[in-house]
Amino acid sequence: MGGIEGGRVALLDIDYHCGNGSQDIFYDSADVLTISLHADPNHQYPYFTGYADETGSGSGLGYHRNFPLPPGTDDAAYLQTLDEALTLIRNYNPQYLVLSFGADIFAGDPLGDFAITTEGFAAIGQRVAGLGLPTLIVMEGGYNTEALGQNTCAFVGKFEKVKR
Ligand SMILES: [Zn+2]
Repeated sequence: MGGIEGGRVALLDIDYHCGNGSQDIFYDSADVLTISLHADPNHQYPYFTGYADETGSGSGLGYHRNFPLPPGTDDAAYLQTLDEALTLIRNYNPQYLVLSFGADIFAGDPLGDFAITTEGFAAIGQRVAGLGLPTLIVMEGGYNTEALGQNTCAFVGKFEKVKR
């Protein structure tokens, strides 16, 4: 297994756009499980990567997963896919989680075409926080500036209530 001291790390990217940078960095490594939920690259940036059949290479084979989602993905569909991703993370049994948070999955985001509501952000936060892992949240996209605060608070607020 991995050579990281202090425990294994999972990285979950829920920004609207594919987490191609994180994917690229760890693609050959089993040290970090990387998972990204994002817009289908068949119709959205970055187009050349982010497909479901990209699962890592070499010793990293099986330690990367992409979940491309179609335009109009709503709370119910998103949460169903998120649950699949969270099951993979639980099975990996990491000690830490890095969460790439993008609010551009919001229904009203000018750069995205998903249909996630503010309540959806709360539900996503609830589920991710439910992993019970020490979590580093990295702020990524989110371009509806009027809704950005409430969506981010709806998500992050769920982490304050986690008991460890
Ligand atoms: Zn984005």
